[in-house]
Amino acid sequence: MTGKSPVLYLSRDHLKRIAGLAEAAYPRECCGLLVGRLSGSGDSWVSETVESPNVDGTGRRDRFEVDSALYIDLQRRLRDTPERVLGVYHSHCDHRAQPSATDLELAWEPGFVWLIVAVEGRQAIHSTAHMLDADGARFREIGLRTDDWGPYPQREPLGGPGLSTA
Ligand SMILES: [Zn+2]
Repeated sequence: MTGKSPVLYLSRDHLKRIAGLAEAAYPRECCGLLVGRLSGSGDSWVSETVESPNVDGTGRRDRFEVDSALYIDLQRRLRDTPERVLGVYHSHCDHRAQPSATDLELAWEPGFVWLIVAVEGRQAIHSTAHMLDADGARFREIGLRTDDWGPYPQREPLGGPGLSTA
């Protein structure tokens, strides 16, 4: 890996879909998995987003848990393909799009990308991407790039390897 900070690339359709799920789940958190390819320079290119039910059992509105059976099935499906589970997405309700102390506590898979969508009053207002350090001790924010979509500030055109909105 070079000194360059990694970037999460996804299409605006993927981001819109996740934002829509985040708004629909409000005031609870939505969650799901990001599937795609890792480039040689460590960038993540999303080809598919997989929605998970939020199976958190605490009933708290600031918690999420991805269905582990769905995760295991997905890993099985991706075996022997160039794709992998790149990371996880979830929403924050009336809270900024930064990983919480709970997120760090529950974080698994060093190198995983965490996409967080902040929802305020039922409207998705901001998204950020973070990566869990190799030692699992902290998140650092990474770049998030999509094609042009108003509510999100990043507007660099897409043009990476094999990105599809299928
Ligand atoms: Zn969180």
